Amino acid sequence: MDPISTARHIFKQYYPRNHLMLASALSAGLVLVAMLAPEESAHGDRLRSEINGLVGNIDELRATSGISGERSATQQIMENVAKAAHEAALQNAERAFVTQVTVRQGDTLSSLFSQVGLSAQSLSRVINSSDESTVLNRLFPGNKLSFYVPEPGQLKRLEVFTSPLEGFVFTLNESRYDVEPIIRTPEIVQVVREGRIADSLFLAGQRAEIPANVIMSMADVFGGVIDFLLDPRQGDEFSIIYEEKYLDGQFVGTGQILAAQFINQGREHAAVRYETSAGEAGFFSPDGESMTKAFLKNPLDVFRISSNFNPNRMHPILNTIRAHRGTDYAAPTGTPVRATADGTVTWAARNGSYGKLIVIEHQGSFETKYAHLNDYASGIKKGSRVRQGEIIGYVGATGGATGPHLHYEFLVGGVHKDPRTIVDQLPLAIALDDTEMVRFRKHSQEILRQLTKNRPDSRLLSYNSYPISTQQL
Ligand SMILES: [Zn+2]
Repeated sequence: MDPISTARHIFKQYYPRNHLMLASALSAGLVLVAMLAPEESAHGDRLRSEINGLVGNIDELRATSGISGERSATQQIMENVAKAAHEAALQNAERAFVTQVTVRQGDTLSSLFSQVGLSAQSLSRVINSSDESTVLNRLFPGNKLSFYVPEPGQLKRLEVFTSPLEGFVFTLNESRYDVEPIIRTPEIVQVVREGRIADSLFLAGQRAEIPANVIMSMADVFGGVIDFLLDPRQGDEFSIIYEEKYLDGQFVGTGQILAAQFINQGREHAAVRYETSAGEAGFFSPDGESMTKAFLKNPLDVFRISSNFNPNRMHPILNTIRAHRGTDYAAPTGTPVRATADGTVTWAARNGSYGKLIVIEHQGSFETKYAHLNDYASGIKKGSRVRQGEIIGYVGATGGATGPHLHYEFLVGGVHKDPRTIVDQLPLAIALDDTEMVRFRKHSQEILRQLTKNRPDSRLLSYNSYPISTQQL
């Protein structure tokens, strides 16, 4: 078939009442524009502008080509218009067979599948298609599923969104499903907010319209210098720059804190997030010192120390000297226990009087042990990689414990150290060398200027005028 007949054929098939209007490429373009006009989808918009472009080209083509040229140019445009019409028709047709489902409390996979008229057999084919299918076993209320079922009982494509930004697409390929991740990139917007404390940090955050999770992260960032339970006073002020994520103009969540300033009882503290050229990221004071310690001081948030590290402890029953090689933290059963630094789990099982024990190996021949656990956090097993602050288990009284507590040990090169004092003697998480310092200064200069734009007298600005140390030479 020649292109015009093809276009006519396709057009007739999808828009039978309009085929007579295919008198010329121009009118076909106009008809399509008219038909797409009420369509508000992004696809419709794209197609509309494409067709507008084609129509706009006609005059130009006519002007630049001879009579025979006009004919072939028109044919070319016809082909393109027909192709676009075909694509649009397919998309519209496809949309009619897509069902969107939002997971609700109490839903099961089979109830979701039967909602859209799919059988248990169809479900098991999806589930058994690959290892990634296990994502279907971890759905939560609010997750969105999109089923494309062009013929009754025939699931051609399934999109599963576990968050607005992430998901998986299962596509039928002969008798099995191919699985591919979907990652949507949000638009990132930087937000600057300021607050003043009248009562509590959280209420101040609320008044400044800063989400609670961002305020909590800010409290974490300054955790080493300000005690947010005791130190904040009425009149303390803070400013913060953080990221907000948007998808198709809709707010989908917050991102990183980029910088923050806290004026506590007249003293100015500031933190700048910085990523080294090696890809290590953390918060730094304006003079380039890491605000993150290599190890957390305590593996629990809420506790009472019931027994300190003591190499000469007299055993209460045996009345002999028996070293206590760790710190005991008394806390209720089930209290979350955190990894005090990044590392690899080398043991997560029962071990004699330690009971349920986790051992983590850290970079630089450090090792930490967490004993008498009631349970391990899900996914924690030998070989697991853990991050500082990640919950690894829960307080218990397993093994030789008389009551619920965490027995925590800290070893350096295989030698037991006092966990409570060693932390302050260890190096900071990330140290910036001279080259990094130059890079850091450049980065922090701009962000501190934004952070203090309403405080031209801020001491923070002076960091930028410091001459960079002569050591760089
Ligand atoms: Zn102990």
